Amino acid sequence: MKAMTENSSHDHDVIVVGGGHAGTEAAAAAARMGARTLLLTHNLATIGEMSCNPAIGGLAKGQIVREIDALDGIMGRAIDCSGIQFRLLNRSRGPAVRGPRAQADRKLYREAVQALLAETPCLTMLAAPVDDLVVDGGGHVSGVVTEAGQCYRAGAVVITSGTFLRGMIHIGRERFSAGRAGAKPSIGLSYTFRRFGLPLGRLKTGTPPRLDGRTIHWDRLDRQPGDDPPTPFSMLTEAITTPQISCHITGTHPAVHDVIRANLDRAPVHSGAIRGAGPRYCPSIEDKVVRFADRSRHQIFLEPEGLDDDTVYPNGISTALPRDVQAALVALIPGLEEACIVRPGYAIEYDFVDPRALEPTLACRTVPGLFLAGQINGTTGYEEAAGQGLVAGVNAALCAAGGGRFVLDRADGYIGVMIDDLVSRGTREPYRMFTARAEYRLLLRADNADQRLTRKGIDAGCVGSRRARHFATKTACLEAGRTALRHAAATPSVLAANGFNINQDGRSRSAWTLLSHPDVDRERLVRLWPSLARIDDRTFDQLAIEGLYDAYLARQQADIEAFRRDEALTIPDDIDYAAIGGLSSEAVDKLGTAQPRTLGQAARISGVTPAALTALLGHVRRRAAA
Ligand code: FAD
Repeated sequence: MKAMTENSSHDHDVIVVGGGHAGTEAAAAAARMGARTLLLTHNLATIGEMSCNPAIGGLAKGQIVREIDALDGIMGRAIDCSGIQFRLLNRSRGPAVRGPRAQADRKLYREAVQALLAETPCLTMLAAPVDDLVVDGGGHVSGVVTEAGQCYRAGAVVITSGTFLRGMIHIGRERFSAGRAGAKPSIGLSYTFRRFGLPLGRLKTGTPPRLDGRTIHWDRLDRQPGDDPPTPFSMLTEAITTPQISCHITGTHPAVHDVIRANLDRAPVHSGAIRGAGPRYCPSIEDKVVRFADRSRHQIFLEPEGLDDDTVYPNGISTALPRDVQAALVALIPGLEEACIVRPGYAIEYDFVDPRALEPTLACRTVPGLFLAGQINGTTGYEEAAGQGLVAGVNAALCAAGGGRFVLDRADGYIGVMIDDLVSRGTREPYRMFTARAEYRLLLRADNADQRLTRKGIDAGCVGSRRARHFATKTACLEAGRTALRHAAATPSVLAANGFNINQDGRSRSAWTLLSHPDVDRERLVRLWPSLARIDDRTFDQLAIEGLYDAYLARQQADIEAFRRDEALTIPDDIDYAAIGGLSSEAVDKLGTAQPRTLGQAARISGVTPAALTALLGHVRRRAAA
């Protein structure tokens, strides 16, 4: 450890290390909780930097952004100020699986994040890379030591170091240490974690080459416009005012794949130079060509990085092939025949902490006062990082204030699903969110994130007064709308006379019930019941989704109650699995390693059978009764 200078003038409640997507949400959340918060990062100018694709949201990820917004986080407001193309993905499918996404102007996004942080009371930001942690006599983390040897004290520390922990960039056979392109890696913290006995692993991710948009033949490509009008992410944004652009689409073809195949021995993943697992669902182009050998085309979206920036992000050709191969394959792609590469694609390998070492609060189980969030926990993606950052920030503030827990469960939101997956099951590859990971996805929609979470956020203390007022108004509008729709009712004969296709069973139907019929819309209901026109469009749209799913949601609610009963059954910390009769040695091993906190969590560990759960439940009940 370096000689350190004590910096008592910088005493804080919470220190957040890292100014990426996890760090900015963690710092903003802790400060909203009233904690005196210090954010330490390499460079203040890169706070809010998008390391890879200039876009926020998407399927399941869009839901996370709305959840962050519902808890008064900053990501939704930042993208609303900087989005240059908004699209609702899966529009043709059910509302539960639609995902809002926006293409960002990279510079405007960074500026928006920095502006939102600058106006956050209780938050100080400093450019000072952290090298080590300070631990008090009781083993509690009580501060950090910077590379310059300065010591800053706090009641809790959140580390959000992204891909920087012993980061190693690969481009073909070239390799060099870096946190990401143009940034130094973070070495000291990795050794600190090792010293603490935290389980570390190695993962990798990659990024495509960036192109000069002035050298692309746009006229040869298909155009992809955004939604008109664009729909904001944040409940607080009235309208998007940033100019909107189109993206363009091109694709690979067999000749491109031939070039890649001929050079696979120079690709670090295939030559064995990279050992860390990469994101299976976001593979490099060399991985795609190998894994999907029968595919003759892979789509590429050409996404401009900004309104006054000619750089283009070719989404779909992430690669770590050597520079000459990158140039050769790009030149074969339609529209890119003369495109100049302004920065080569690369892969980066980095250390992560096995998230099973964490509590659902994102506190380290064995190192009190230390919280981890973002890519360091094995995830990939801005939204996944930001969602964890918010939860870690709130919990760090609670910890510094002397106690309390803020936990989201699998029925609260995608953030809850993600954190439960991570702390219960861990991950062997960069974890990203999908709608399929959520059991209760009819409930966990993008449109109702505030109705699911803002009340929880208000109770925890992380929601400001402006959002709380807005939430109260919206909730009242929804309630009034529901009442109006339930009270508007008519007999089957009246409904039939008005063109509704209803069984003539003598039972009256309310406008609310009619919403579950796919061909019933606002216009038809208002024609029959003109007073319903008083429900504003935004409120009506949300009630229409609720009405559509009403019967299914009621059934899902029963599942959620059963799930929460299992979650409420806590397993004592000192349980000896080997002493429980009826558990196989595999179950003893798996439960002993995972140390689940609840019966529900035990059930989600792979390899733990229903018979093992019954034995465990019996044991826990007998102990509680003894
Ligand atoms: P980051 O955004 O990486 O932020 C880390 C922050 O910590 C930085 O501000 C850094 O300066 C700071 N920091 C690190 N160490 C220290 C220290 N010791 N002291 C002080 N500050 C420190 N995501 C996808 O969804 N899809 C992709 O295809 C994809 N590809 C990627 C490719 C590359 C090359 C990279 C680098 C990332 C990619 N990502 C991708 C991941 C995405 O960028 C991250 O998931 C996201 O940025 C993680 O957020 P974070 O806050 O955890 O970390």
